[in-house]
Amino acid sequence: MATPLTELLEEESALECILSEVGAASPEETPLADALGRYLAGNLIAQIPSPPFDCSAMDGYALAASPQGYPAGARFKIATGSASAGACAPRVEPGQALRIFTGAAIPEGTGAVVMQEDVAISSDDPPTTLELKETSVEGEFIRHAGADLCAGQLLIPDGSLLTPQRISAAASQGLTVVPCPPRSQVGILSTGDELIPPGSALPSGSIYNSNLPLLTSLVGQSGGNVLQSTHAGDKRKTLLQKGQQLLDSGCAILISCGGVSVGEHDHVRWMVEELGFESLFWGLRMRPGKPFLFARHPEGKWFFGLPGNPASAFVCFHRLVGPALRKRMGAAPDLLPPPHVSAVLHGAIKAPTTDRPHHLRGTLDRQGIFRPIGIQESHAISGLAACNALLRTCPGTDLREGATVQVTPV
Ligand code: AMP
Ligand code: MG
Repeated sequence: MATPLTELLEEESALECILSEVGAASPEETPLADALGRYLAGNLIAQIPSPPFDCSAMDGYALAASPQGYPAGARFKIATGSASAGACAPRVEPGQALRIFTGAAIPEGTGAVVMQEDVAISSDDPPTTLELKETSVEGEFIRHAGADLCAGQLLIPDGSLLTPQRISAAASQGLTVVPCPPRSQVGILSTGDELIPPGSALPSGSIYNSNLPLLTSLVGQSGGNVLQSTHAGDKRKTLLQKGQQLLDSGCAILISCGGVSVGEHDHVRWMVEELGFESLFWGLRMRPGKPFLFARHPEGKWFFGLPGNPASAFVCFHRLVGPALRKRMGAAPDLLPPPHVSAVLHGAIKAPTTDRPHHLRGTLDRQGIFRPIGIQESHAISGLAACNALLRTCPGTDLREGATVQVTPV
């Protein structure tokens, strides 16, 4: 006799339970080429200043230090040679101007750099004198060593997401590797006798397995790596066999979809216990997503049993599995819960008719307007395909047209 699914955990408590269970993996030296989407372990402190030396901000002329300043009309003698980026330059003697290029070290004797657009050059060949068209000031267009970043300054804090910007900052310090926990290794198991892999003919009564690619992409998008993914029907024997394979494959995180509810063909809870997991909770006060199983294995592995309906699997992943993957990969605490942004609601929304908060799929446009989309049923594919944000509505709270709401971009 199947157990009814009556004891439902609030989403916040479920997330708390998951995050208190799943810990970060040990960091490893990670080449910058493989660091994108991973999280930095420890603070990255600058070892060299930026810029590392005084340099020119412009293509123009390095003007000799001048006690009289640099009024419009002042004249300078153009010195032989030039100061190019990466090369040594001669000293600028009093009264002289030396051709200089962006990024070149400021030659000794320089008081300011003037842009080439702001000078008039004599017409002789090569030109011998230069006249300022605009007034310049001491230190103009000189980037001073350390003005941007000093040695010893915090450049990237512990647990930061490694974006292209931060990877380039690490490279600017001369680093080729940074410490990061590895990408989470994930195993995915879909269940259901009615499911057919895309690419095959569709017998009547069957549907295509869309959750396997859904979950595979969600794991990839979260920076994780799907080590193995497989499908099992609804027979206990094959389910257990496939579950065992995933458990043996070296994945720390196992995700299943379907078969976790109360029907006679829902054997995921049974399988998880047979595999030696301890079930930590089953059932969420959340719509979609009521049948959701979280379990722990003594070998330091975790199992997430997601509901089978595509919108349910999607919402559950975003709300509860994504945070676990980020934690495992060393993300800072403030990066763990799903982020949200303010939006303006298009159309009024009635409070959910059940006692469960409802995650509505919708679109958030560039003007910051959120519109719920499609039928909000857990099997609905069209709204899921179109959505780029989720809005959580709560029992007892109607939302009026134009209300400011918090939505999660997805
Ligand atoms: P279940 O939780 O196994 O009862 O599945 C709930 C609903 O989700 C059923 O209508 C299934 O056909 C559907 N479903 C389960 N797994 C998948 C999947 N991998 N891809 C698409 N739909 C699925
Ligand atoms: Mg099923």
